[in-house]
Amino acid sequence: MAEETSRRIGPVVLLGPPGAGKGTQAKRIAAQYGIPHVSTGDLLRDHVQRGTALGQQAKEAMSRGDLVSDHLVCDMVKDRLRQPDCVRGSVMDGFPRTVAQARWLDMFLEREQGCGDKAFFDKSMSGKGLLIVIRLDVDYNQLLHRLTGRRTCPTCGRIYNVHIQPPCVADTCDLDGSKLVVRDDDREEVIRERLAVYERQTQPVADYYQRKGRLVTVQGDLPVDEVTDRIFRITGRVTATAEGG
Ligand code: AMP
Repeated sequence: MAEETSRRIGPVVLLGPPGAGKGTQAKRIAAQYGIPHVSTGDLLRDHVQRGTALGQQAKEAMSRGDLVSDHLVCDMVKDRLRQPDCVRGSVMDGFPRTVAQARWLDMFLEREQGCGDKAFFDKSMSGKGLLIVIRLDVDYNQLLHRLTGRRTCPTCGRIYNVHIQPPCVADTCDLDGSKLVVRDDDREEVIRERLAVYERQTQPVADYYQRKGRLVTVQGDLPVDEVTDRIFRITGRVTATAEGG
């Protein structure tokens, strides 16, 4: 249940390699603040499943573990962030993944939500919300271990891990009893490619935010509740600053 539903939060951007726990933590942030969880991976998978024009264009890159082109993803995110439920903020998981997407997001937030760089540096704009960028850091071998153990509920989207967060009954969702599945791109050869793509394309996004003084890192291989606590401390602190506190 949402615990804080009046303040403007973020938007919060969660960075980190595949398997770092972005999805799990994003869901918790969304529930805590009553803001939507915007996962570009989930949105794209939904397009692929529905066979939309975007889904057809995205499908091949996704099955290779490659990135979908920036303009397709940015258009999709623009449509999502313009929906009324994003007015108080959102938590973005899997976006931005390239420096071009990060630049686009800065421009979009400045123009449409008044919480870009200007709000960050100009205290008189408090109350507009501030972009919060958090990177979850996890060691490479730990990531491989996590990703190969990942199982997803096709009905409710809940994520499990056979090694570290197994369901109560093997291969079965605790919440709705659906049979858990291995995502197509969680096969080992695709995982290695996704991790390489992260190093090549998404690590520069972290550097981009670091240069702007925006990046906060959290150790992602701590117990999952500890990671959440650390994230909430950051979101609480930044939100208080944005309100002039
Ligand atoms: P994810 O569920 O975040 O791991 O994303 C699954 C796949 O969707 C990725 O491997 C990419 O092919 C594609 N994808 C998700 N987000 C983005 C993005 N921001 N830019 C480009 N491709 C993306």
